[in-house]
Amino acid sequence: MTEVFTYSGMPARVVFGRGTLKNLSDEVVRLGGERVLVLSTSQQQGQAETVREQLGGRSVGVFAGAAMHTPVEVTEAAMDVVKSRNVDCTVAIGGGSTTGLGKAIALRTDLPQIAVPTTYAGSEMTPILGQTEAGEKTTLRSDSVLPETVIYDVDLTLSLPVMLSCTSGINAVAHAVEALYAKDGNPITAMMAEEGIRALASALARIVAAPEDVDARTDALYGAWLCGTCLGSVGMALHHKLCHTLGGTFDLPHSETHTIVLPHAVAYNSTNANPAMAAITRALGGAPAAQGLFDLAQELGVPLALKDLGMPEDGIDRATDLALKNPYWNPRPIEHGAIRDLISNAWAGRRPAN
Ligand code: NAD
Repeated sequence: MTEVFTYSGMPARVVFGRGTLKNLSDEVVRLGGERVLVLSTSQQQGQAETVREQLGGRSVGVFAGAAMHTPVEVTEAAMDVVKSRNVDCTVAIGGGSTTGLGKAIALRTDLPQIAVPTTYAGSEMTPILGQTEAGEKTTLRSDSVLPETVIYDVDLTLSLPVMLSCTSGINAVAHAVEALYAKDGNPITAMMAEEGIRALASALARIVAAPEDVDARTDALYGAWLCGTCLGSVGMALHHKLCHTLGGTFDLPHSETHTIVLPHAVAYNSTNANPAMAAITRALGGAPAAQGLFDLAQELGVPLALKDLGMPEDGIDRATDLALKNPYWNPRPIEHGAIRDLISNAWAGRRPAN
């Protein structure tokens, strides 16, 4: 190998497998936690209460208010509990929304965190935190928000609804895809990205066929871990910027938006990122990258068109203007006409051209 590159590893301890949640108390002790607050969404409060019982005297309660895009007022309510109960460690059980709350608390307190992910979003492996205040989402990077320990328990993902499994899985694939053509990409991240896409692409169809297929769920969670690591290691480009803009402007659901936009963003970049396209093609088992990703989404039965998520047609021009407003790095320069075509194709749900 002659290439010169920089790779920044993310210092997290990972426990992976079936039934690994039983290690939680040991992991809490390892971090010195004696007054643990368990975090979840309201939908996963039952799971959080079970975790609290499992921790016995080491837990001081559950905060079940986590919400999408980490609203600051939710974090402030959780911070009141952290202070009043002298919390010294958090355990976040759930998807990216719950992990985000754990990170927001860590940003304000530097408390150690254990993330127990139950979706494939990958936030647990990144030093990135997106927060919303007065409807505005801002994103920051800080080593202090990276969870110290991640417990991946395949059993906890068996209940993830099939459609959410698919869109969350493709959301993870998107991290790996953009890592393959990242400005600061490197062979280590590329290796994880290709393997992550391969693992998820093969797992998702098996999950649709049999949602409790433990082997498929194991492959998907392993893939999600790798893809999350890619997101945390290198910079993202057009796809993530577009999803951020579309999601924020039209209040579109996170993982569905990623799922719809990905094949079109890849088609846009396909002529300027040959090694990345070759890696995606290999990972998908031979299909050309953009069409292969579209066909995967179609096979899984997930939404294919932004119009089906409620984006209005006259939003295409607004989104195009916003996408061009703040310049950012992308392997292909951001061109008005081509970006408008991309958004229009994603809005209508057309298969990207070869
Ligand atoms: P989510 O965390 O919002 O979860 C969606 C819903 O599914 C919630 O109601 C949740 O309680 C429920 N759920 C989760 N796991 C379940 C399970 N196993 N069984 C049944 N229900 C379950 O969704 P998400 O897609 O995981 O996360 C999206 C959020 O994460 C967004 O806010 C996004 O910005 C953020 N995110 C951040 C990063 C980062 O690095 N900072 C990375 C990816 C996503």
